[in-house]
Amino acid sequence: MIDLETVSQSKLTTYNRTIARWTRLSGSAGERSAAEYVATQLLRFGFETQILMHDAFISLPGKAELRITSPETRVLAAITHSMGISTAPAGLAGELVFAGKGTVEELERVGPGAFALIDGRATPQVAVNATTAGVAGLVCYAGRAPHEMCCSPVWGSPSAATLGALPNVVLVSVARADGEALRELCLAGRVEVRATAEVHTGWTKTPIVVGDLEPGHREAEDRFVMFSGHLDGWYLGAMDNGSANATMLEVARVLAPYRKRLRRGLRILFWSGHSHGRYSSSAWYADTHWLELNARCLVHVNIDSTGAVDADDFGTNSMPQTAGLARWAVRQVANAELDAHRLGRNSDQSFLGVGMPSILGAISRQADHSLGWWWHTPYDTLDKVDPARLVRDTKIFVLALERLLTDPVVPFDYAAAGSDLRESLEAIAKTGGSALDLSPAIAAASRLETLAGKLARAAAAADGGARAAAINACLHELGRILVPATYTAAGPYAHDPALETPFLPRLREVVRLAVLGPDSDAGRFLRVDLVRAHNAVADAAQRAAACVEACLAALAVGARAAARKRPASGGSRPTVRRARPPRRAASRGKRRRGRSA
Ligand SMILES: [Zn+2]
Repeated sequence: MIDLETVSQSKLTTYNRTIARWTRLSGSAGERSAAEYVATQLLRFGFETQILMHDAFISLPGKAELRITSPETRVLAAITHSMGISTAPAGLAGELVFAGKGTVEELERVGPGAFALIDGRATPQVAVNATTAGVAGLVCYAGRAPHEMCCSPVWGSPSAATLGALPNVVLVSVARADGEALRELCLAGRVEVRATAEVHTGWTKTPIVVGDLEPGHREAEDRFVMFSGHLDGWYLGAMDNGSANATMLEVARVLAPYRKRLRRGLRILFWSGHSHGRYSSSAWYADTHWLELNARCLVHVNIDSTGAVDADDFGTNSMPQTAGLARWAVRQVANAELDAHRLGRNSDQSFLGVGMPSILGAISRQADHSLGWWWHTPYDTLDKVDPARLVRDTKIFVLALERLLTDPVVPFDYAAAGSDLRESLEAIAKTGGSALDLSPAIAAASRLETLAGKLARAAAAADGGARAAAINACLHELGRILVPATYTAAGPYAHDPALETPFLPRLREVVRLAVLGPDSDAGRFLRVDLVRAHNAVADAAQRAAACVEACLAALAVGARAAARKRPASGGSRPTVRRARPPRRAASRGKRRRGRSA
């Protein structure tokens, strides 16, 4: 067990202070300096380190102003947003109409050529709604100071196919107090405004820092754990994401001396393009490293905004197969219960198509569940990070990563994933009534749940060797089968939009089937899609169950063979990967550092 007391508050503070000296806009000189700094630290700790440079479609907001021209004349402090459009230098004038939360229906009532005033943040969904409704611009209000936002609904850099989905609207945000005053004006009579916005959008080179720690255990697998967080950010970003970057470095420092105990490699990745390119780096990495990630990457551990002042509300992104580990780590360190909820469409979750399970992200929040009023504002400074809470959160990541890197059998709970899938399908089936038969998928999920329970019992008795290798290969394969089929609509090789995407996204329209009536024309068209969506989920659940069954059969054969004193065998399916020679890292030559396009 790693000694958690080796987590150093003074080192964390040094890393955090150093990184928060630079404004780290994606593709900027400040971000580049921060990338050089973290790469140097990783190299010092013994990681094979490189900085990858790649093309990314980055959008940086410039100057903005909102001028009320009638019924009074006043200038409000305003910001514009990444992926919004620029106005002419003289600005754009129009009527300002209050449009509630900014649904398409609310925005359609605003009318073309006018500005809509929105109670809430400038989100990609609101920008999409505004573009659909054809309004000229949005004035959003939220927060003590307005929050910087990236409003693209396109995940990663746009492609030829998705470029047209970018918002085509002027986006401006003001502080909540100003927004509420504007709303009162709008409700009292006609209001005229002139907005000026400058947004600089285009292709630019951005850095990804990659650090690899090879596993040194004699039974090391040819797999690695990905630990990632964004290095880019808004303003000095001391918390978001400077504190998390400090945690990443400290985790790397603390784990490096334990290399000989690692059964799996650790790959640390510092992304660019999270804040200004809608996850452009992680999406690029997923696309350009797809084959390697598919074959070798076990899990994505994400991190964001650790150790904020007063952040004692524990909640995080997870999946049912990883939630148990996340809760355990928080209980061990903080003696607190973690709300390990299903991940949302955020946080560089670019690896669902590959089939990598995901765990953690931001783990500690304010009492109102937010990351703080200072999040994405110039007030995200070092005074918003509490060194003691930063140590606490860092220990949580050390513990969770230690288990993922050193447990003989990876601590994934696919019985929980199976039961979650069954329950989710049952809930959808209830909504759809008799209009759609989901029973084959439900039966397969139930079978997966039972078989995965048996696998967990077998795993508890496996402390290494061929049995653990066979179970780990099966657990790896279960992610590849289940995650793309149940978390994505776009499938393995593409990315769903950066808009809220529910679990089992292709089946979500069942709700509409009940409304439309299954015998209406529209209902019949929809049913064509839903039958196909059901097939995809049922097939995945059946293949997952078959994968577990084959593993259990192989374990039984191996056990009988061992009883007859013959060498144990993992069987032909799933594949038992050959253990890597422990000194592989050394045989690859000196650790290098460089860059590639
Ligand atoms: Zn962040």
